[in-house]
Amino acid sequence: MVKFLDLQRINDSFEPELTETVNRVIRSGWYLLGEENRCFEEEYSRYIGVSHTVGCANGLDALTLILRAYKELGVMSDGDEVIVPANTYIATILSITENSLVPVLVEPDKDTLQIDIAGIESCITPLTKAIMSVHLYGRCSHTSELDELRRRYNLKLIEDNAQAHGCMFKGQRTGSLGDAAAHSFYPGKNLGALGDGGAVTTSDAVLAGMVRRLANYGSDRKYVFDAAGRNSRLDEIQAAVLRLKLKRLDSDNRRRRAIAARYIAEIDNPMVSIPSGIGEVGEMNVYHLFPVLCRQREQLQQYLSVNGVQTLIHYPIPPHRQKCYASKGILRHYSTLSITECIHNMELSLPISPVMTDDEVTEVIAKVNNFNSI
Ligand SMILES: *Cc1c(COP(=O)(O)O)cnc(C)c1O
Repeated sequence: MVKFLDLQRINDSFEPELTETVNRVIRSGWYLLGEENRCFEEEYSRYIGVSHTVGCANGLDALTLILRAYKELGVMSDGDEVIVPANTYIATILSITENSLVPVLVEPDKDTLQIDIAGIESCITPLTKAIMSVHLYGRCSHTSELDELRRRYNLKLIEDNAQAHGCMFKGQRTGSLGDAAAHSFYPGKNLGALGDGGAVTTSDAVLAGMVRRLANYGSDRKYVFDAAGRNSRLDEIQAAVLRLKLKRLDSDNRRRRAIAARYIAEIDNPMVSIPSGIGEVGEMNVYHLFPVLCRQREQLQQYLSVNGVQTLIHYPIPPHRQKCYASKGILRHYSTLSITECIHNMELSLPISPVMTDDEVTEVIAKVNNFNSI
């Protein structure tokens, strides 16, 4: 059977260093806010191309802390609007509503599956303070037009880089393209820990300082609390594991691109389409996921499952249709988001990971090409 994602095989591929790394931290006697965090933050900043990285507990916290810090700094206040793609993972939206800000959903482009830049400008109001871009599926969502737009309207650009570690836009890493970026190190991400982890990257020293303070109970000095913060830290074991895995991130992403290139070249079932923006292999895509679109998505998934290929749907229900927002009314006026709903109805993610073998890739392609619903 071809697993959707074989985390055991991924982690085995880092042995024996992985176990040695974990043991090194166990024996150090220091488990939070120590040398491993300091080194990881330095190494990750260099990798992304920013001046500051602040480790935190997970990707949702990273997003939430950025917005919270902007509120503390007086850049945003309750009721302000944040523009966000309608087809993102729920965490992006949760970080906005958790801060009493208002998510303004913009439809994606059907070729790239990323926020449609042309749809942003008409959504800008005097309350708009930021655009949250999401490099969904590992595909860069940044464009020169987006950059020009946020400068013209003086908006903060916050990147949700949870799915795109290592991705580039014109030679610059995603995570360094806006004012601040959130990263998730959930085990299944391109750079994954052995549990939860996250980070904020920015070249804004004031923002970095505020995020660091808020993530540590609101404190810069022990037992002195200047803001009402929370506890959101990256532990030393995860930081050490991430330092080890970061060294192989670029070559892992190259392997993902090689697999994607084969899917693009060899999948020729007319019922299964690869959006053209997913079909461009280059620095713009690190293929966290490989999404295909199919009108008979459920049958395709069932067929592949019976034939030994695991797949997942990203995501079955779009945020504006989720029950968590039904009663609050925040997203209620989005009765029709037809492109978003179409993607959510047709999307299926094929297996892709740096440890997939060529034979497994061949098998996935053969099974997809054999699918023939009647
Ligand atoms: C995974 C993910 C998050 C949340 O990260 P966690 O570490 O799971 O909290 C946020 N946004 C996107 C797009 C993600 O894929």
